[in-house]
Amino acid sequence: MARYTGPVCRLCRREGVKLYLKGDRCMSGKCALDRRNSAPGQHGAAAKKAKEYGKQLREKQKAKRYYGVLEKQFANYFVEAERKEGMTGENLLILLERRLDNVVYRMGMASTRKEARQLVLHTHFTLNGKNVNIPSLLVKPGDVIVVKETSRDSVKFKELAQVKRQEAPVWMEVSEDGYTCKVVAMPKREDIEFPFEEQLIVELYSK
Ligand code: SF4
Repeated sequence: MARYTGPVCRLCRREGVKLYLKGDRCMSGKCALDRRNSAPGQHGAAAKKAKEYGKQLREKQKAKRYYGVLEKQFANYFVEAERKEGMTGENLLILLERRLDNVVYRMGMASTRKEARQLVLHTHFTLNGKNVNIPSLLVKPGDVIVVKETSRDSVKFKELAQVKRQEAPVWMEVSEDGYTCKVVAMPKREDIEFPFEEQLIVELYSK
């Protein structure tokens, strides 16, 4: 499956905001955005005032890059968000938040969503007792995600279990050892701390 494989710090510099794509480095003094807050490229430092369309486009790119999904898939999420009751923009973010790779990241078993995606692809988790390897799978209340017993002995997971991560959001309960996560509610808009302006994305797709 196609993925963006270029330098990820460029993406943050392009959006002018931390997208947290490099794990612990993002919190350190080595963050490229903290050191050079200008768009990449020869003319990146020249301040440009985004017009309406530009702002809408940037907001969509931000969300796509934050959650690590590609254009087509993102557009499909939008269609699904429109079909649901309620605010389309909120529905869109909630759909993205429910992705299994995001849940693995949020439960603290990966330092980035990209890493979470890889771990899911390599079948290191079970969902409700069954092996799962689909990062885009959408979780729902009652679902239980567990790091497989056989994976826990690997150096990777031993390291990951040691790392103190951000607290899990209120819609999931994570066990003390970090290996089990139960989804206890649907995520709400206020549980997504990134300051998206999702209305701009809705406006973009409504043209
Ligand atoms: Fe973005 Fe992290 Fe790179 Fe900083 S270190 S620019 S937050 S990916």
